[in-house]
Amino acid sequence: MSTDGVFLPGSTVGVMGGGQLGRMFAIAARRMGYRVHTFSPDEDTPTGQLADREVVARYDDAEAVRDFARGIDVLTFEFENIPTQTIEWAAEFCAVRPSANVLHICQHRLREKQFLAGSSFPLPRFAAVNSAAELADALQHIGVPAVLKTAAFGYDGKGQRKIARREDPATVWEEFGGGHAVLEQFVEFAKEVSVIVARGIDGKMAAYPVCENVHRHHILDVTVVPAGIPAEVDVQARVLAGEVAEKLGLVGLLAVEMFLLKDGSLLINELAPRPHNSGHFSFDASVTSQFEQQLRVVCGLPLGSTESLRPAAMVNLLGDLWANGEPDWMAVAAMPEVKIHLYGKSGARPGRKMGHLVAFGRSGEEAAQRAQAARAALMKPAPGARRRAPAKTAG
Ligand code: AMP
Repeated sequence: MSTDGVFLPGSTVGVMGGGQLGRMFAIAARRMGYRVHTFSPDEDTPTGQLADREVVARYDDAEAVRDFARGIDVLTFEFENIPTQTIEWAAEFCAVRPSANVLHICQHRLREKQFLAGSSFPLPRFAAVNSAAELADALQHIGVPAVLKTAAFGYDGKGQRKIARREDPATVWEEFGGGHAVLEQFVEFAKEVSVIVARGIDGKMAAYPVCENVHRHHILDVTVVPAGIPAEVDVQARVLAGEVAEKLGLVGLLAVEMFLLKDGSLLINELAPRPHNSGHFSFDASVTSQFEQQLRVVCGLPLGSTESLRPAAMVNLLGDLWANGEPDWMAVAAMPEVKIHLYGKSGARPGRKMGHLVAFGRSGEEAAQRAQAARAALMKPAPGARRRAPAKTAG
């Protein structure tokens, strides 16, 4: 047991959630000599495959959660949709980082926006919406186009609907399925960027270089680091992320997704108090990966360097790539500047994140081209489709 909040190698770290973020955390933790236990309702999860112990139980099973907490030194989580109550049960028996309060704010869009607005952080105009009448009111105030989002349990664009022109609020609300929602101004951004910042138990912070992100169908598609943005925007984005982490009183990792407007100003779109898809490049291209950094803050160790080793780009591999059978791994394995990451998931459904590629280059653009070409090479032609003949080269 630690009395000073520091957990040295040999300690056991618990992870709530069993996805790919926990899997890559487990790799980092095991490499540094920690034991990893994971808790989720599913079996043979991406995290569980790499953990020393996989506990399969529901998040509302108080006794299972307490029992899990007794067997670990410190607990963290790899996604936000875990009931705060679960974290509180665990906190009776072990340290928890980030705190249940940070989770409570960041797992709910409206609470998160109210927290940010309350501290005067820049964000798109928004309004809480709980009925068709409130939606009508909010549309008056915010205007169109706008985006309606569920307040809780949304991710990767799930539970979102764009309202492009004057539509009947009652019909929109009915189609949306009601519940608690947030209406947001639609932002005509120049770019989407994100910053991942770590804040330790001593309040020291380290931000990663700004990531430039491109989304497809609301899901992250490509991340390029360094971002193609002016130096002053880079500084502004990193400072902003640090200020949010400090205001939250965070001990952990925070990803801050932002919209960069044409005039160079930034608006905060979303927070995630954990490693983030846009930070996956760091596994291969940074001195300290975001997962090692998470381990360091969770265990009270000093922060590692966030410096990039090389320009890099990451592309996600969604289940759609499996439409015509197993992707052509040999084609990408033959590319020496490309790293393959797969999450050990068995069911390749469209839109499901199955893995990602990281490519290096002399510049971000070169890395991005390489990563996209590698992903294209994975795609098997549909049965019956003719392969394009390879281009003939002279000589
Ligand atoms: P979110 O789940 O809120 O991060 O949304 C996923 C993606 O949808 C974002 O990364 C944007 O590409 C797009 N999006 C979400 N909200 C807005 C908005 N208010 N204005 C413009 N695009 C948005």
